Amino acid sequence: MLSARELTKVYNGTPVVYNVSFDLQPGTVTAFLGPNGAGKSTTLRMLTGLTRPTHGQSWFAGRHYTAWPNPAHVAGVLLDASATHPGRTGRSHLRNTAILAGVPTSRVDEVLNEVGLADAGGKKIGKYSLGMRQRLGLAQALLTRPPVLILDEPINGLDPEGIRSIRTLLRNHAAAGGTVLLSSHVLSEVDQTADRVLMIGNGQIVADGPLRELVSSQ
Ligand code: ADP
Ligand code: ADP
Repeated sequence: MLSARELTKVYNGTPVVYNVSFDLQPGTVTAFLGPNGAGKSTTLRMLTGLTRPTHGQSWFAGRHYTAWPNPAHVAGVLLDASATHPGRTGRSHLRNTAILAGVPTSRVDEVLNEVGLADAGGKKIGKYSLGMRQRLGLAQALLTRPPVLILDEPINGLDPEGIRSIRTLLRNHAAAGGTVLLSSHVLSEVDQTADRVLMIGNGQIVADGPLRELVSSQ
């Protein structure tokens, strides 16, 4: 189980995330849904230890993330799919990532296949479409077969086929016992993808439940 307790981030005296707590169960896909600027990225960054909370903590399987033996093997993280190297091929980028994470490089062609980039592995990342870069980011997150996937806007900018393929991957990850948390600012993206929606507005969770219940109660 992935747990967040009272996660709070204050920038320049202003809380941008305030007292966010939740528990995520294995086998589920949860969406963090809220408008731009609501605090989704900051929360995901705090969950993974990339941004230090002003207050609050997160745990996975009862361990504070600072005690994770190798964070890359606990959580696969996709934060900014554009932050990859344009001159390098997708395959060589993943090979380097695999070596750094201590994963056999034979895994690279497996993940390229899993995300539907088998034919594009030899192409330069600079020539990838946005959807391909999102899928490459997802491939990178999947390299270590982590139990937890934390994905910032993984569906943003994808065409309908890209949306379907990411959706299937996330559902399969959960069906295999994984825990998935993705963020989105588009309600229609998380419909059919997430079992549960955490709605965030102005840095606070304002609703929590299956999307259908949240929509019908408004
Ligand atoms: P979202 O992911 O929901 O779009 P963010 O978490 O990126 O929201 O941002 C929440 C708020 O915090 C925004 O107002 C943003 O400008 C601000 N913010 C994010 N990161 C920083 C930072 N490092 N320093 C100052 N303000 C920040
Ligand atoms: P911390 O080290 O406190 O976790 P970050 O690494 O998230 O902070 O951000 C470092 C600095 O980058 C912030 O103090 C801020 O000046 C700047 N910054 C990054 N993102 C934003 C943003 N969205 N809005 C405003 N400032 C930002």
